[in-house]
Amino acid sequence: MTTGKTLARSRELPPWDSLRYITHWVGGRSVEGASGRSGPVYNPATGRQTGAVDFATVEEVDAAVQAAKAAFPAWRATSLAKRAELFFRIRELVHERREEVARILVSEHGKVFSDALGEVTRGLEVIEYCCGLPTLLKSEYSEQASTGIDVYSIRQPLGVVAGITPFNFPAMVPMWMWAPAIACGNTFVLKPSEKDPSASLWTAEVLKEAGLPDGVFNVVMGDKVAVDAVLEHPEIAAVSFVGSTPIAKYVYETATAKGKRCQALGGAKNHMIVLPDADVDMAADAAVSAGYGSAGERCMAVSLVVAVGDVADKLRAAIEERIPQVKVGDGMLPDSEMGPLVTREHRDKVASYVEGAPGEGATVVVDGREGAPAEGFFLNPTLLDNVTPGMRAYADEIFGPVLGITRVDTYDEAVRLVNESPYGNGTAIFTRDGGVARQFQFDVQAGMVGINVPIPVPVAYYSFGGWKASLFGDRHVYGPEGIDFYTRGKVVTSRWPDPATSKVDLGFPQTK
Ligand code: NAD
Repeated sequence: MTTGKTLARSRELPPWDSLRYITHWVGGRSVEGASGRSGPVYNPATGRQTGAVDFATVEEVDAAVQAAKAAFPAWRATSLAKRAELFFRIRELVHERREEVARILVSEHGKVFSDALGEVTRGLEVIEYCCGLPTLLKSEYSEQASTGIDVYSIRQPLGVVAGITPFNFPAMVPMWMWAPAIACGNTFVLKPSEKDPSASLWTAEVLKEAGLPDGVFNVVMGDKVAVDAVLEHPEIAAVSFVGSTPIAKYVYETATAKGKRCQALGGAKNHMIVLPDADVDMAADAAVSAGYGSAGERCMAVSLVVAVGDVADKLRAAIEERIPQVKVGDGMLPDSEMGPLVTREHRDKVASYVEGAPGEGATVVVDGREGAPAEGFFLNPTLLDNVTPGMRAYADEIFGPVLGITRVDTYDEAVRLVNESPYGNGTAIFTRDGGVARQFQFDVQAGMVGINVPIPVPVAYYSFGGWKASLFGDRHVYGPEGIDFYTRGKVVTSRWPDPATSKVDLGFPQTK
């Protein structure tokens, strides 16, 4: 697999002679890193290292910011019509070449090909939404707000903005950021996850091919050094972050202390409530799909099924029955439904929750450590029962194929559990009672709610974001709030009076 001719160069010298060399993209071209620091990239299905990614220095981040800064005046002045035309071209290219990027996602993240295509499709929705940028950036005009005076608002880009993204959606989450940011007239610096960085370079090449001017989109590879350089950089006006809660909090606090606008989306622990009147088979299908899809490495994954009343035993049996049918394997094999975890360390950390579950009082119903493919970073679907608050398996975002069942007696207890969670990303209720579902939507403290929908990721013309420790900042990503985040308002008051009527008036302006 290659990520493109300029990106797939091999270094002449060991130990990188057989590895892909993944580096930065600045000012419209691949730029070799000079820090001497790099990180490994693996194929999680084989466990073998396939690449090495450069880690940027403070100076290299600055070079990307300077490229973005230099590109800003011309990009900002490019008409809405031209920008929209370009976005249509970007949409077409990403769509045409989606299988190419899906293969990159499988090879570095491990998710299965169909799921990788799904990721690109959901990202494309955001690009499609941005094709409507002339409408999205329309403002308001009040004629005759005062006698002979008109007042209107306009929205303008911020300048250079940055995105810092997690490993679990290496194409889609960056699209949530760069698409609206660039559509609004900003220039962009992306710092992708160092675990699966190649999709961002594929994106850079596609944007260039579509005709995006050099410097509008830049990529710096790296770790904390690069992130801190972004957060500290005086020329970066806004930072979007998606990742785990501790880092989201750190990013938000550091960026805002430096006077930047910031939206920082964090981790999650999503509850799916199943009421006694729910269709048990439908709820079990949903729990298995949302719990084990992408090996549970989704911030909207269902990780706890809260079974209310006597549905618990039936639901557990229905989930248990479905687990052996989930086909686990290399994401490029056509039959695979669930791939490996992203790294060996992460796989072992997830497995440690299964190991520790009995000691905490939980029941291991299906142990995913058994029978998992030996090569690569695999763990099979795991089911725990009797998971209760206070246990690590209840409280922590495990981010793996581990589904827990929590048993409660009433709807009120179930809602209390969701509302007492420090996270508030997604939640779902399965019921046939419309009145209870409506009450749930009213009561529940989470940003995204599913009613008989296990993964309620909003469509692109709404915005995505959680509550509580799942989001720091006050703007969700993409959709109308994304446009709002990447622009700032200006209000113009204008009059064209007859100069003959002009006089000095020291009073405070009042409407007439
Ligand atoms: P992560 O927090 O480890 O990394 C995210 C980004 O932060 C990466 O670019 C990484 O290089 C950088 N980073 C890591 N450690 C850092 C440090 N100490 N200082 C500065 N920067 C650092 O997250 P991850 O493991 O890549 O992704 C999984 C997490 O992302 C999960 O918690 C998941 O719930 C969350 N996530 C949330 C959403 C959402 O919309 N809320 C979406 C996707 C993923």
